[in-house]
Amino acid sequence: MSVREELEKLGRLQELDLKIDRARMLVSSAPAIYREIESEITKEKSGLNLVAIHKADLEKQKRGLETEIVMDQDRIKNIESRLNTVTNNKEFHAVTKEAEKAKKLISDREKTIVELTEKISAQDKIAGEFEARIASLNEKLEVRKNEVGSQVGEADKEIASYAGDRNSIISEITPPLMSRYNRIRVRYNDALVACKGGHCTSCNVALPPQMYIQVQKCLEFLACPSCQRLLFFKV
Ligand SMILES: [Zn+2]
Repeated sequence: MSVREELEKLGRLQELDLKIDRARMLVSSAPAIYREIESEITKEKSGLNLVAIHKADLEKQKRGLETEIVMDQDRIKNIESRLNTVTNNKEFHAVTKEAEKAKKLISDREKTIVELTEKISAQDKIAGEFEARIASLNEKLEVRKNEVGSQVGEADKEIASYAGDRNSIISEITPPLMSRYNRIRVRYNDALVACKGGHCTSCNVALPPQMYIQVQKCLEFLACPSCQRLLFFKV
């Protein structure tokens, strides 16, 4: 088999290997696509959690005020019951004043409760927005998982479908060339590259003129003096 024929076979092998590389890349990059959406979901969930904590705090304040109001009302009842036992005007005024003070406290607390109730419903609205975003991200994740899953399935099938062709091409390539190809492939995906206009088309180095002539004659396997990739002549 001539050097030219063997390089052609190597070229066909490389074509398959590059397709396999692309398919493998897709398979290995698939989880990264999920992770991006999953981390967005985690971010939204922690936002929602903060809202829930804030809401719980507001509700606690509200319950505290409600309890205080009940206690204030008891106090007012107590104060007012004392009104029956007052003996003079001064005492009457003092008790009335105390009752008014307690009533004022209740009305201040009621105002604060109204404000807190508004704040709580604002938190509910914000939580709803978080929940909507999480739901839509979950939907997106599901769709993406299905898409990527079927792409990965296709890629796996593609890789498997090349195995037969690949083996039959390899059986036609001599072992020394094959191991040379494999060695170069450890560093570069394209182990075999075109030499065009006196240059390596991969690293773009200019070949010595004598070497360029030899590449064109194609009587031996020649490597680029700079990147070490195998060269074939291309007009
Ligand atoms: Zn090169």
